[in-house]
Amino acid sequence: MQTNVIDIRTEYETALNEASRLIKNGAVVGIPTETVYGLAANALDEEAVKKIYIAKGRPSDNPLIVHISDISELSPLVREIPEKVKIMAEKFWPGPLTMIMKKSDLIPLKTSGGLDTVAIRMPSNEYARAIIRKCGVPLAAPSANLSGSPSPTNAKYVYDDMNGRIPLIIDGGASKIGVESTVITFVTEIPTVLRPGGVTLEEIRDTIGETRLADAVLHELKEGETAASPGMKYKHYAPHADITILKGSLEKFIEYTKGKDFFALVFEGEEKYFKNAVTYGKPLDGVSEANRLFDALRELDERNAKTVYARCPELDGVGLAVYNRLIRSAGFNIIEL
Ligand code: AMP
Ligand code: MG
Repeated sequence: MQTNVIDIRTEYETALNEASRLIKNGAVVGIPTETVYGLAANALDEEAVKKIYIAKGRPSDNPLIVHISDISELSPLVREIPEKVKIMAEKFWPGPLTMIMKKSDLIPLKTSGGLDTVAIRMPSNEYARAIIRKCGVPLAAPSANLSGSPSPTNAKYVYDDMNGRIPLIIDGGASKIGVESTVITFVTEIPTVLRPGGVTLEEIRDTIGETRLADAVLHELKEGETAASPGMKYKHYAPHADITILKGSLEKFIEYTKGKDFFALVFEGEEKYFKNAVTYGKPLDGVSEANRLFDALRELDERNAKTVYARCPELDGVGLAVYNRLIRSAGFNIIEL
């Protein structure tokens, strides 16, 4: 299959028409969103959704997020809209927030990974919403990487992974946020964050009060434990290199790595201390780290890195999302210095 790329910034009408024509015909199209690029198909069409799993090589029990362009599209997709979801939608939609509710019969089990719940998000990226609107159906869209690889934050990285696997990629420039959405479930008695992202735990607690953080966000699942969010159990976001996170000060990091042959994955300003270094954002600045992390992981592959030692982000604000992705890309290899 040939994979075409259309830049929606310069060819707006053509991009919208082509993307919607293909999606309405049951194909999968790579689209920009503010979090990362997505692989979009008609969420209500089981056959179309199957093609997403095939293109990604994704295990079929890992459910997809359903994207809408307007709040009016929500109610047909769910059994009921909990009061707290309305409050959250008012405050954070459109934006990097995915909310899980009981699904209606409109959502095929293929889309929900066999679960009776569905994850829904309204992206703030104008191009993404325009594409959804033009298609006239909600779009299932996981990150546009091969399963296990770092999520793509620009059209080139989508092309690297998806060339020959999907007919079209819409280029809308770099993703603004750089990590996937915050996922929160309202099916549990107390709302629970299953995956941290651009909307922070602090902001959520300020808005709806008591909110839990799922264990799997910060720790590896133990044998036999089941993940509330199926995506959490898979090795994820990983480049080819072996990554080890070194928790502690920069001084200790330098001391520990002295004499070793490695790539340093460090914060801006720290690269001068190392022969081979890739940076991912500013120290103590989760937003800039999120913006750079996946690009930095792909850069390590491009530079053929084999062994990587990484600096550890702070765990507050968006830093929690960065840490959650980094520990998975490192296969939970963490050394306390
Ligand atoms: P991605 O599509 O790659 O951004 O990943 C979507 C994430 O949302 C995965 O980690 C899923 O496990 C999670 N997710 C989607 N739908 C549900 C659901 N109904 N229940 C729990 N987690 C979900
Ligand atoms: Mg993903």
